[in-house]
Formats: sequence, C-alpha cells, structure tokens
Amino acid sequence: MAKRKTRHTSCTQMRRFVRTHGTLNIATGEVKMDRRVWVTEPCEVPLFGDDEQKRGTCKACHTGWETDENYAVSNELVALQASLPQVCVDLDRANSWEQVFGPPPSFIRNGRLYISGEDEGSTYGSCDYYGEFRGGDPWISPELLQWAKDRGGYWLWENPGCISFEKG
Ligand SMILES: [Zn+2]
Repeated sequence: MAKRKTRHTSCTQMRRFVRTHGTLNIATGEVKMDRRVWVTEPCEVPLFGDDEQKRGTCKACHTGWETDENYAVSNELVALQASLPQVCVDLDRANSWEQVFGPPPSFIRNGRLYISGEDEGSTYGSCDYYGEFRGGDPWISPELLQWAKDRGGYWLWENPGCISFEKG
C-alpha cells in the first residue's frame, strides 16, 4: 500500500520569543523600539528543503535556537500553560477588596512551565514564598495546587520568586 507522505510548507514548531514593537515617527522616519513582549506562536518560517518539508520544522527549530530570547517550546507545555486555572490576581482593586481573578503570570523556559511570584498581582494569588502578603510559610494558591494534582504533578520552588511544574 502506498504511504502518503505529509509535506509541510512552513515550520510547525511552537516557539517562545520576544517581539519588539516599534513606533514609527512619520516626520523623521525614525523607528523607536519601545516595547518588548514575550509571545508563544508557531514558528511558521517557510520550508524549502526536502528534509525540512518532511520533518515539518525549520533547521533552526530542529537544531535549537541559540539566543535566550527565542527558543522552541513543546506543544505539551503550551497546552499546559493554556490550561492553568484562574487565580486571584488583585485583592484590592479600587480599595474595594474585591477579588479579581485572572491567569497567573506564567512562562515557559528550558522545557519547563513556571509561575512567577513576583509579577504584579501574583503574590496575592499565585505564590508567596516569604509570606509578605499571606503571612507565615511559603504559600501556593489552592487552585494551582489542585491543577498540579489533577495532572499527576506538583509545584517546586525554583527560587523565592517562582515555582515550576514538575511531573509526578
Ligand atoms: Zn522553525
């Protein structure tokens, strides 16, 4: 039976990188790069070579990007990140002590998923190592603890500023 080969025309690898947004000054034509944002998107570089088209990934994604601000991430980690539970991100909006829920500040690095305990709002709802906001012992939100348990894993204190998700 003839085997149908899948060919890709662009790189399918998910990639995490810094996108720099610039502002064009129409009067001078000068571009000022002023905003850096981390994004997770498919690479989508056009593929030309036979190997690349069969594999579905470009050479750089296949062999590894070499800068800190641009690297391949697994679809599994991207899906994990997307499934993170909502946590309390603000306790004190407009001094009403209303709890505002949102996604915890998270990032993917070196093949692992991290939650920051230092980004704005995080200490209220994600994790708090020194207990500045929660008082007492290192604290991780019940939503995040349950989420890790449901996936057969746990949270590890990477340092007082962030936790990483570990499998089983
Ligand atoms: Zn690529």
